[in-house]
Amino acid sequence: METENTEASGLGKSMLPAAKGLDLIGRKERPMACCPGCIAPTPLISTLAFSHYEFYCLECGGHFGFLSPRAETDTPELHAIYKALEAEWEEHAGTRLIVEGREPQATTEQLAADLTARDWMLERAGKTVIANG
Ligand SMILES: [Zn+2]
Repeated sequence: METENTEASGLGKSMLPAAKGLDLIGRKERPMACCPGCIAPTPLISTLAFSHYEFYCLECGGHFGFLSPRAETDTPELHAIYKALEAEWEEHAGTRLIVEGREPQATTEQLAADLTARDWMLERAGKTVIANG
C-alpha cells in the first residue's frame, strides 16, 4: 500500500535522484538526466556541491542547472553507465567536495580533500574519451 502511494506521487524509491525533476514532465517512461553538451548519452551526477548547478558531467566537466539536462530513456545500458559514473564520483569526489560558500567553516583537512577532488574532476573531464576503449 505504502509503495503504491509513493509511486503515485512520483517519488518511488527506485527512481534515480538525477531524474526527479524530469519526471515531473509526465513522461510515461522514466527518463535519465543526461549531459546536453556530450554527444553520446552521458548520465549526469546530481550534486549540491555547486550553487545553482545541480548536475555535473564527469565526461566533459559541465555544470548544469535543474532544467538543462537532456532526457534520455533509461535503458539497462544507460543505467549501467550511470551506476559506473556514480561509483566513480563517490570514490573520488562526492562527499569530499565542500559546498560552495562553506569554505570558511571547513577544516584544513576538508579543504585539502576538496582540492584533491576538484583536481581529479579536472583531470577526469580532460581525458580523451575513446569509444569502446
Ligand atoms: Zn558532458
